[in-house]
Amino acid sequence: MSSPQIPVAVLGATGSVGQRFISLLDNHPWFKVVALAASDRSVGQKYSDACRWVLNDPMPEYARDMVVIPATPESVNAKIVFSALHNEIAKDLEPQFAQAGASVCSNASSYRRGEDVPLLLPEVNAEHIQLVKFQRQQRGWSGCILTNPNCTSTGLTVALKALDDPFGVKKVFAVSLQALSGAGYPGVSSLDIIDNVIPNIGGEEEKVEWEPRKMLGKLRETLEPPSSAAGTPPRARVELADIKFSAHTNRVAVIDGHIVCVSVQLANPVEPEVAIQALRDYVSPLSARELPSSPRPVISVREEADRPQPRLDRLTGKGMTTVVGRLRRDPLLDLKFVVLSHNTIRGAAGGSIYNAELLVNENLL
Ligand code: NAP
Repeated sequence: MSSPQIPVAVLGATGSVGQRFISLLDNHPWFKVVALAASDRSVGQKYSDACRWVLNDPMPEYARDMVVIPATPESVNAKIVFSALHNEIAKDLEPQFAQAGASVCSNASSYRRGEDVPLLLPEVNAEHIQLVKFQRQQRGWSGCILTNPNCTSTGLTVALKALDDPFGVKKVFAVSLQALSGAGYPGVSSLDIIDNVIPNIGGEEEKVEWEPRKMLGKLRETLEPPSSAAGTPPRARVELADIKFSAHTNRVAVIDGHIVCVSVQLANPVEPEVAIQALRDYVSPLSARELPSSPRPVISVREEADRPQPRLDRLTGKGMTTVVGRLRRDPLLDLKFVVLSHNTIRGAAGGSIYNAELLVNENLL
């Protein structure tokens, strides 16, 4: 595809995920950042003054002198709006942008459960993006809302997909070890987390137990009225995957990169070597394979007994690859393994950018 340089904006540009957007959108082949928005605290300031930059890579030059503007459709003029807003704010603002004609690629959880809202990992369920047609028809929007999953559901779902397709996943028991950047900036106080593990992250377990079922579910089109009328697209919905989940979620003193320890029961149990090969062989659906942010490879399988580790492995495939290791027999279910995914790249900003690329590639912008 040629490089149309589509104008894009970042809402919540000064936060933990917002900074990732600024960094990942630097020299993006299709997208040009034209607006940075945040709260009243930052509005009117130069981005370099408003933002306490916490990434290892330097703040990109293009962003430094941009003036932060209010996160309203009246102030922001962009075809694609990347949202790194907190849920309550996103719930109110994102529909306003969609109604005004912007395609909102959101990290917030506010609309993930919407029947007409795609919850997307393009390497897993690219076809679910078709829900956008139904969403526009139903809500009368020229824009739309697309969501990416919670950062812990992300790597977990990619690994499960590679096992579910050939062997059928029936049950999942998952324990997360989640990085600090997942709690935003400034996040958890150092006195709470140093020398410690916090065995509760509000609302997280419910998300990890539900979101993979939507992403691993089947997109069904129905021709019920009124959508059977000539010229209107059929109603569509996702039938949740019939998989039982139990999750424990924990905050640990790691900066970036979420680990999930997973045990699975399969409909057709296989030897560990066969499952490892399936993970290695997994490829994205065709429409999501050659986009600028496509993970290369989708899954990397480590053979060492002590990998993956956040510090060593989180930047595999520029932070977009899901890393799996320690796949072995599970004495209670069938197999167990460890998954690592970069929470603010694949699990947040990189994931949203990948969703936007899919939207463009499917001519749905
Ligand atoms: P964060 O570090 O707390 O950043 C919040 C951002 O929102 C800041 O830019 C802040 O601007 C802005 N903001 C606050 N109130 C606002 C308002 N009323 N209007 C406009 N902007 C406002 O949070 P985060 O960790 O980046 O998370 C952002 C979203 O992504 C959340 O919904 C989170 O659940 C989701 N998410 C995060 C991760 C992760 O790994 N961190 C992963 C997946 C999803 P000021 O600086 O001006 O206050």
